[in-house]
Amino acid sequence: MPELRLDCLGSGFAFSHGSYWSGFLLDGRVLLDCPPQTLAHLFRLGVPTQAIDLVLLSHEHSDHIGGMDLFLLEATVGRAAREGAPREWPLAIAGPPGIHDRLREVIGPSDRLPERDDPRVRWFEQAGGSAFEWAGLRVECVSMEHGHGMEALGFRVSHPDGVVAYTGDTAYVEAVLTLAEGADLLITECGGDRPYGHTSWEDVRELRDALAPSTRLLVTHYDPLAVPEWASTLAGVELAEDFAVYEV
Ligand SMILES: [Zn+2]
Ligand SMILES: [Zn+2]
Repeated sequence: MPELRLDCLGSGFAFSHGSYWSGFLLDGRVLLDCPPQTLAHLFRLGVPTQAIDLVLLSHEHSDHIGGMDLFLLEATVGRAAREGAPREWPLAIAGPPGIHDRLREVIGPSDRLPERDDPRVRWFEQAGGSAFEWAGLRVECVSMEHGHGMEALGFRVSHPDGVVAYTGDTAYVEAVLTLAEGADLLITECGGDRPYGHTSWEDVRELRDALAPSTRLLVTHYDPLAVPEWASTLAGVELAEDFAVYEV
């Protein structure tokens, strides 16, 4: 079976010491969250914004959506939009209900953020338990448990060459296992020792034991200065690294 490429655009948490905020590029065309450095790292990879078919935003926190302003500016009126190859699909952006309103707060009244009815962008505001299809992919959306009274989604992306599940930010709850069922790869957050709404290293160990052996486990959104010695050598657990490339 052909392999599915995953680029790590960042592996760190919100207060990251020395690594970029967590985000990934799947198959050269799907963004898993859009942290502040996203546009610069796409340029570094030689991936134009026109190649991005779908942006999956797990929740409204800045370390996950803070790159949307400049990404959208480049995607709508930047050089690639003016001079690049035409898009195969309109850009689609998915996130929890209200994500467009939240982006409006972040970006302000600027027309950098297309309105909901702008034909250049297709919006998928998804409740937990829903699914949609776009650009030959099926995306299942699962409610995670990030607290703060906000909806946070995990996504399971089914691609003809593999299934990748991504938690966004969440405590370790049963829904993480639901999300990962049948996945080739689970990308899980590890917010470190923060008390609420994040996964701990002990949880990662439990999660590994609970997952099917055939599901690879990649940990992201962690503080590289605070990885316990035992956690860095856990069998069957990979720690994401900025700019690393994974084959799923
Ligand atoms: Zn976060
Ligand atoms: Zn968060």
